[in-house]
Amino acid sequence: MMSENCIFCRIAEGKFNTEFLYSDEKVVAFRDVNPQAPFHILIIPRDHYNSVKDVKNADLLGHMFSVGNQVARENDIESFRYVINTGEEAGQTVFHLHLHLLGGRAMSWPPG
Ligand code: 5GP
Ligand code: ZN
Repeated sequence: MMSENCIFCRIAEGKFNTEFLYSDEKVVAFRDVNPQAPFHILIIPRDHYNSVKDVKNADLLGHMFSVGNQVARENDIESFRYVINTGEEAGQTVFHLHLHLLGGRAMSWPPG
């Protein structure tokens, strides 16, 4: 399940030699190109899903969070925020599911 014109599919394939902070047969994690916090990574499935709404596999979602926890731990990020923007109005700009992990600074609530 790969989408020809999808930037994140291509990143997961290794087309851009992106540095992976984590990689296995299901997911990869890499730094956001336009970080919104000192530590800002994206955890994505290798398979293409337009959004989290398209995922029926709860194990995959659980795995993405578990990978995020591990990468945070490895980078001494104790406090962080997970975000999954879903749909244009919620701020989704790349339509390949991605879990943001943001840390390294204080955060406010509610989010914008
Ligand atoms: P969204 O707005 O869809 O929740 O998040 C998309 C994120 O992907 C943004 O934070 C944006 O900076 C990041 N992004 C977009 N294109 C690329 C890219 O080519 N490489 C990397 N590493 N991040 C990207
Ligand atoms: Zn994709």
